[in-house]
Amino acid sequence: MNNEKIIYADKILLADGWNQDKTLTINNGIITSIDSGYLKGAEHVKGPVIPGMINCHSHAFQRAFAGFSEQGSEGQDSFWTWRKIMYKFLAQLTCQNAEIIARQLYIEMLKMGYTRVAEFHYLHHEINGDNHPSLAAMAEALFKAATTSGIGLTMLPVLYRFSGFGAQAPNDSQKRFINSTEQFNQLVSECFKLSKNHRNTNIGIAPHSLRAVDKKSLEQAVNHVRALDKHAPIHIHIAEQQKEVEDCLNHYGQRPVEWLLDNMTLDEQWCLIHATHINEQERQGIIKSRAIAGICPTTEANLGDGIFPTTEFLAEGGTFAIGSDSHISVNPIEELRWLEYAQRLIKQQRAILASSQELSVGANLWKKAAMGGAQSTNSNTGELSVGKQADLVVLDSQQTRLFAHSNQHLLDSMIFASQNTPVRDVMVNGQWVILAGHHQDENATANAFADILDVLSA
Ligand SMILES: [Zn+2]
Repeated sequence: MNNEKIIYADKILLADGWNQDKTLTINNGIITSIDSGYLKGAEHVKGPVIPGMINCHSHAFQRAFAGFSEQGSEGQDSFWTWRKIMYKFLAQLTCQNAEIIARQLYIEMLKMGYTRVAEFHYLHHEINGDNHPSLAAMAEALFKAATTSGIGLTMLPVLYRFSGFGAQAPNDSQKRFINSTEQFNQLVSECFKLSKNHRNTNIGIAPHSLRAVDKKSLEQAVNHVRALDKHAPIHIHIAEQQKEVEDCLNHYGQRPVEWLLDNMTLDEQWCLIHATHINEQERQGIIKSRAIAGICPTTEANLGDGIFPTTEFLAEGGTFAIGSDSHISVNPIEELRWLEYAQRLIKQQRAILASSQELSVGANLWKKAAMGGAQSTNSNTGELSVGKQADLVVLDSQQTRLFAHSNQHLLDSMIFASQNTPVRDVMVNGQWVILAGHHQDENATANAFADILDVLSA
C-alpha cells in the first residue's frame, strides 16, 4: 500500500550524530538508503530532522481527567487520593468513549513528537464489571484509535488479579481490571490476532504491579506471551510509592525490585516503570539484568512519587525510556527537561545527564530516550539509519532559528529554552501524519472529546 518516499534534509540527526545534506529513501515505511546531497525528486523538509520519540508508558483514558485532582486538601493529597478520583471517573467510562479519548491523546502525542506509544492497558471490562462479548473489546478500541491517528502502538494488556500483597480480593472499583490468569492469557492471544490487522502495532504484557499479581500468575503470563513472541515486552509498575515498598517488605521480606530480580529472569525487553524507590544494589541489579527503567518525570512529580536516581543509573550504563503515564503533560521535551532538572535540584549542579561521548544534555537525552523506548517496545525504531522504520520529526526552522541552532546546541535549546513545541511535521512508518503542526482529524476528534468531557465531568 505504501510506495516510495524520498526526502531531503539540510540537517539530520543520524545514528552517528548530526549530518548535513542527506537524502533518505523510504520504502514501505523502512529507510532503505541514506545518500549524501540532494537526489532529484526528493521532498525538501522544512527544518532539522530528528528521530521520533517513543512513549513507553501510557494509560490513555487518564487523559480525560488530567488536571482534575489539583485541589488542595491541607497537604493530605497524595497518589492514593488521586487514585480515588480515577476510580470515580472510570465508573462512567464506556468503550466508545475510550476510543475517542485515546484518539485525542494520540493526536496530541504525534503533534509533540511521539511516534509510538506503549499502552499499559488495564481497563478491560464493562462498567458493571461484566466481560465484553469479546475479551479484547477495550483493547480493540485502542488499536482503532492508534490506526486512525497514525501513531505506532505497542499494546500491553495488564494482568491485574488482586488489590494488595497476599492475594487480597479486589475491591469494587477494580472490577473492570480483573482477569483470571487463564482469561488474561486468552486476552493476550486475542490481542496478537488484532495486531495482525493493525499496521505498525505489536504486543507485550504488563503485570500491573507486585501488589496486583502473585508469583504463579506472573510466571504463567510471562510464559504464555513469550511462547507467542520470545521478545515480547514485559512492563510492570514496580516501586512508585514508599508504601508499596513497605507493603512488599512486610509480605515478602524483600523490596519490590529486589524480589523481582531474585524471582524472575529479567532481560532487555523488561521495562520497570517507576523504579523510583530503589537502593544501590537494586539499581545495579537492574543494570546487570539489562532491563529498562521506564521513567515518567512529570507524572511522578505531579503525584508526588519521588525521584529516580537517574544520574547514577546512567553513569553506570543503565538504559531508560520516558512515558507520559497520566498525561498531565503530553510532551517529550517537558519530560526530558524535568528528568534533568530534578537531578540539578537534588545535586545543586548543572548539565548532569550528558556523557563523555555526548556533551550536549539535550542530544544525549533525546537519543538515549528514543533508543531505550525502541527497546522497551521491541520496535524497529529509535534512530534514523538504513533498515530502521521511518519514524521522524521535522523541527520548524522558523522556530529553531530563534534559538541556538548550531548542531551542538540545537537540542539543548529545544529542551531547555523552547516556549512552544518546535515540532512541525511528523512521519510514522513512512507516512506523514502531522503536517505544518496539524493532523487531518484534529478538529473532529477534539469536538468529540470535548463532548465526552462535558458529560464525564458534569
Ligand atoms: Zn502507570
